[in-house]
Formats: sequence, C-alpha cells, structure tokens
Amino acid sequence: MGKLVLGCIADDFTGATDLANNLVRAGMRVVQAIGVPATPLDADVDAVVVALKSRTVAPAEAIAQSLDALRWLQAQGARQVYFKYCSTFDSTPQGNIGPVTEALMDALQCDFTVATPAFPDNKRTVFKGYLFAGDVLLNESGMQNHPLTPMTDANLVRVLQAQCTRKVGLIDHAVVARGVAAITERIAQLKSEGISIAIVDAVSNDDLLRLGPALAKMPLVTAGSGVAIGLPANFGLAPSSQASALPAAGGLRAVVSGSCSLATNRQVLDFIQRGGAALAIDPLRIAAGVDVAGEALAWAEPLVGKQPVLVYSTAEAGAVKSVQGKLGVEEAGAMVERTIAAIARGLVDQGVRQLVVAGGETSGACVQALGIAQMQIGPQIDPGVPWCHARAEAAQGAGVHIALKSGNFGGDDFFTKAFTVLA
Ligand code: ADP
Repeated sequence: MGKLVLGCIADDFTGATDLANNLVRAGMRVVQAIGVPATPLDADVDAVVVALKSRTVAPAEAIAQSLDALRWLQAQGARQVYFKYCSTFDSTPQGNIGPVTEALMDALQCDFTVATPAFPDNKRTVFKGYLFAGDVLLNESGMQNHPLTPMTDANLVRVLQAQCTRKVGLIDHAVVARGVAAITERIAQLKSEGISIAIVDAVSNDDLLRLGPALAKMPLVTAGSGVAIGLPANFGLAPSSQASALPAAGGLRAVVSGSCSLATNRQVLDFIQRGGAALAIDPLRIAAGVDVAGEALAWAEPLVGKQPVLVYSTAEAGAVKSVQGKLGVEEAGAMVERTIAAIARGLVDQGVRQLVVAGGETSGACVQALGIAQMQIGPQIDPGVPWCHARAEAAQGAGVHIALKSGNFGGDDFFTKAFTVLA
C-alpha cells in the first residue's frame, strides 16, 4: 500500500466518524479503525482515523492509548498526524487535550502545533480565542453543565494553558483573514516568544481553507473535525465522488435506535407516520427478565424480507427519567445497549446488510456485537453521518453497510432517506 498520508487519532467513536466524513468530502479515501488495529493496514486509502475512547479516562491512560495509535499509524507510513477532539473542546481541568497533545509533540519531535475546535458547518466558531457554540459562548451553551466535562470558560487559550506545560498562544482572526503568508509569519513570531501551541480563530470555512496550506509541514495538527476540510489539498487531493465510493449495497434493511435525543424521537415518529414497520422495546421488561431481543427478532423475521424494519427504545425525556429512576441511569443504559446490540446481531443473521444505528453509545455496542474492526467511509446521508462499509464477523466476514448516527444528527426523515442514499 504505502499511500497513507494522514494518520488520525480521535478521542471518541462518533467523533472519529465525523472527522472521517469531512476528510472524505474533501477528497480523501478513509478507513476508520475501531481501536488500534492489531494487524497492518489492509486497504488502499489516503487516511486512517483510529477511534479511541480516551476523552474522559485518566490522562496517563489517554496518553498511553494515543501513543499506541501513533506508533501504529507511523508503521503504516502516515506523513502527518491529526489529533481529533470534540468541537466543544470537551475536557476536564486535567485534560485530556493538553496532555495528549504534548505527548504526541514529544513523540513526533514537533516544536509547534495548532489547536482549534472550529467547525463552522456545525456552528462552532472561534474568535479572539473564545469558542462559540451557535450564537453563545461555550460556557453559556449548556456545556457548562455537562456531566463529565463541564466547560465553564470559553477562552481556549486559558483552558488549554491550564492543561499544558508548554506555552499556549493565539493566531487571531485578523491574521487568519490575511491568509497563509500572514499565518506563517505569526507562527514564526509565536515560536520566537517561546510559544509552542496556538489556538487558531476561524469563523467560516474560508478561514479553515486559508489555514490548511499553513499546516502543510506540521508533523502534528490538533483540532475538531473542521480543520480537516483544508488538509487534503496539501496532498494534491480534491473533492471527488470516488473518495466516497463503496461496494454496491444489497441485502435486507433495518434500523435500530437506542438514542433518546429530540432529533431521534422526531425521526422515529416520522418513520412510523410514513407507515414504516416499527417495534418499541420496553426497558422495564428487559429488567424483568423477558427475552426482549428474542421477541423483537421474532417480530422482525416475517417483515424484514419485504421492507425496512425499525426496532427502538427511543423515548421522550419523561419516560427515560422514569425508567432511570427505577433501574438507575447506568444500569438502564447498559441493559438497553446490550439488548439493542443483540437485536442488531440477530437482524444481520436474518440477512440484514444495510443497517442504521441511532445513538453514540448504542453504536459502540452494536459495532462490537457485530465484530467490526474497521469501516470504509462512504457518502454522507446528512451532515456528520456517512454510510460506511465493513466486514462483520456476524456476517461471516461478509460486507455490511452501516450508518452510525449520534444523537442529535440528521433530519426528521433520516431513517427513510438513509436507504435512498444507498440505492
Ligand atoms: P445519543 O447519541 O442520543 O446520546 P446514546 O446511544 O449515546 O444516544 O445514549 C443513549 C443511552 O440511553 C444509551 O445508554 C441507551 O441504552 C439508553 N437508553 C435508550 N433508551 C432508553 C430508555 N427508553 N430508557 C432509559 N435509557 C435508555
């Protein structure tokens, strides 16, 4: 192979898909690996995104996982490394964005890198070093109340500096707006001041496209998924439909949903209102020991040969709270995830080869249950959600088309539209 140019390390699963999707749209052929692969790369691609689960683990563990991923990517010949984190800069006062960035800089002997979660397509913009989510500052966006990574300060220079031993500076919008020469000059100036990491302002895709060429020679780039749109051109790659080409789709079609987000609730309702075959599963019956997965598969079997089926635990906030009150938040979540994953596996046994999964954690559980180690990234269904193609142990190593939709992504008609995109 020997063609891999960009090696990416993502700190969570759906974030990895989001990055892969942006790279594909900018012209790269991309594979996403679930964890660090045990074997060499077996695909002809321009970029690999290694999906870790390192966002909220202890910093030392996040560093160990990331360095493991780096070694594998280097062994595959990656010429540049991209550390991907959330576009809301999700981290704790200890990290892990800062510690992982510095460990990667040490390993790559990289004396300067950038850090910017800007992703204007998703309304994440950075101005004067302050991160906005939509029209409000990060710390007014709801992220200040996040259960694991509360973000109480929108000033990213301050936030990142608190996680780093190296000095953190800013490349502000006035510089970015003037283009590559001005950005390069600013980087030289920051370096002369002893600064090694720069937050970069970007409020539009044009800003990110101006930033791209200035990053061409950096061994390490750290960012959300937005910066990805400006990188493929550095390797002579331009957007093309070939980048997202997947093998032809066949087999039966199904959707499983364990997401309870507002968007997913609307998508389930829309699918039912269009006359789709849908079955709700009840967490309390799982807790009572009923074989809910077996029931769902018996329900699906006579239907799935004729039309796409939907099996969902998706419920509105009040119902979810009530279940969580009875079973505990984590116990309810884990139980439903296991059940939906078993249903996904059973559906593949029934011949499903086009599967949509709704829910970030739910997706992780399903991918594991299906025995998928890596996915080729294909065409986008809605922003942030591409179809993928993967060999699945559950299908005796045959190919399955799979779309993994995190909570709030996708339009109301997502569960219908997804299959038309493949057809
Ligand atoms: P999202 O991407 O929308 O956050 P996730 O799959 O990441 O979706 O998370 C949803 C969580 O809620 C999962 O742990 C899932 O098992 C759990 N869950 C799903 N349905 C219910 C329900 N009806 N009651 C309680 N918990 C549920």
